Amino acid sequence: MIRTRFAPSPTGELHIGGARTALFNFLFARSAGGRFVLRIDDTDAERSRREYEVQLMDDLQWLGLTWDEGPYRQSERGSLYVQCMADLRERDAVYPCFCSEERLAALREEQLARGQPPRYDGRCRDIPPGEAERRMAARERVCWRLALPEDYSAAFDDIARGPQAFPAGTIGDFVLQRSDGSPTYLFASAVDDELMGITHVIRGDEHIPNTARQLALIDRMGWSRPAFAHIPMVLSMDRRKLSKRTGSQPIQEYRRRGVLPEALTAYLATLSWTPPEGADPFDLSSLAGVFSLGEMARSSPVHDEGHLLHWQREAMTRRGGERLAAELAASDPRLAPYGGRLAPLIEDLIGEAPSLPELQRTLVFLVQRPDEGPDAPRESWMPDLGAALIRLVPWTTGTVEGALRSFMKGRDLKGREFFHPLRLRLTGKDQGAPLPLILFALGPEGAAARLQ
Ligand code: GLU
Repeated sequence: MIRTRFAPSPTGELHIGGARTALFNFLFARSAGGRFVLRIDDTDAERSRREYEVQLMDDLQWLGLTWDEGPYRQSERGSLYVQCMADLRERDAVYPCFCSEERLAALREEQLARGQPPRYDGRCRDIPPGEAERRMAARERVCWRLALPEDYSAAFDDIARGPQAFPAGTIGDFVLQRSDGSPTYLFASAVDDELMGITHVIRGDEHIPNTARQLALIDRMGWSRPAFAHIPMVLSMDRRKLSKRTGSQPIQEYRRRGVLPEALTAYLATLSWTPPEGADPFDLSSLAGVFSLGEMARSSPVHDEGHLLHWQREAMTRRGGERLAAELAASDPRLAPYGGRLAPLIEDLIGEAPSLPELQRTLVFLVQRPDEGPDAPRESWMPDLGAALIRLVPWTTGTVEGALRSFMKGRDLKGREFFHPLRLRLTGKDQGAPLPLILFALGPEGAAARLQ
């Protein structure tokens, strides 16, 4: 049974990168009839916030990325990490470290200055057990590190990126338990992946060095290794790490702007993957049906709002005028009386107003009559056109268009003399959607009221 997990830390809002990781975990589990687990990695008590957790889950649900299990919270699983630590101590696989923050910072600086990757130098590894016991009894600050074998080298075959190798000497003895007793991310996450039976760890490629460390723990405990797929980080248009400063918006912001969930997931799916022809990019089960981790691109994708907008237009078009009209009416009751008559107008407007809030703003002339003061056009033929329209049966976009043409012809009016004042009168604007669609939406009475 395939089991994947999405394991966000509730220290901020869900952004594009995280949502994409969640999507690929979801799709992979679904593609294999497996299970998708949600785990909240909240070992960092200071930065973790319940509000973020609630919002994050709401965003996932809104995107349609529903989980089969969880949410599990690491903050509620403390005893499991304590148990595992006891096990490690019994195996002599860990040792207490008394190094001060200052010493560690200085060590790090020294190593960086020498052009070496920072790693713990193992100073506390050889403290005799009796001395360590004494120092702990004297309540010295202590954290616990994994004692890596001298020649430890990590190698694994990444599903998305191929073979990865960390030669001996590149990884230092890393901390599993902080001095306040809490487990580190590296520790808790590996323990949980084991206890939760996670078969595939799919996460951003910034975690590759963490994988090398976690494998050391997994191997030391004799657990079976999950498969790993590290997906390339999403970059900004100027190829920097995607962040608030480089134009990444939280999912909440896209929601506020009226981006549809199926537009966002269709877009996210294209970041590092190309759904094959024939799959419906707006349908998560269709995507799951063809998803393959091995087809992941190896280079970093770029977050492009223009592409997202393309998917948004497509998604709006796919929802269709009738459904969008109903959704608009639900969000703005003033639009409810227009019902399905809004559908053709909406379909025409999607290109320039590709979201519900934008449509709502564009359609405000329907509920707020344009200025009918002294400057509003008052052509002598307007009341007659109103009278002609109110008698028109049946009321369709086609019959309205026909009625406009024959009225114009009957009065011997030129297009310019007719359409421009008519548009101004009806909408208060110089430009906009085709007039038959606007009149059709207003309905016979609404149209006549504005003209007479
Ligand atoms: N909590 C980690 C993060 O948000 C999870 C990484 C992982 O998937 O193991 O980056």
